[in-house]
Amino acid sequence: MDMNEGFQCRCCGACCRIKDGIVRVSSEEIARIAAFLGQGEADFIAHEAELAPDRKGLMLKSRPDGACVYLTDDNHCRINPVKPDKCRTFPFDWVNPDSNEVCPGLKAANR
Ligand code: SF4
Ligand code: SF4
Repeated sequence: MDMNEGFQCRCCGACCRIKDGIVRVSSEEIARIAAFLGQGEADFIAHEAELAPDRKGLMLKSRPDGACVYLTDDNHCRINPVKPDKCRTFPFDWVNPDSNEVCPGLKAANR
């Protein structure tokens, strides 16, 4: 049985609030997000992206509390139609060992 069969997202936003979480963005994703927001890629890179800890590319910025800059107060993703692949594929194509603790939908599906 698929580990995530029966998964239902609770729209809690917990996966977008992981302290020190890393959401890398490729150059294609940068172009896609900047176009969606109607801003130049240079602007996006200057204000909403930063160098990843391994210095091998860019990642989305977080707020001081760890929430992604694109998470709204009501737990929606402001760039949902063009969000990075990492966001799109959680918790199906990838999870971390502690994802069950982060994601209530995953925890319920794996019970
Ligand atoms: S881009 Fe959207 S889905 Fe991805 S972490 Fe930020 S708010 Fe969450
Ligand atoms: S933590 Fe899980 S249930 Fe909550 S928004 Fe993210 S995917 Fe959905």
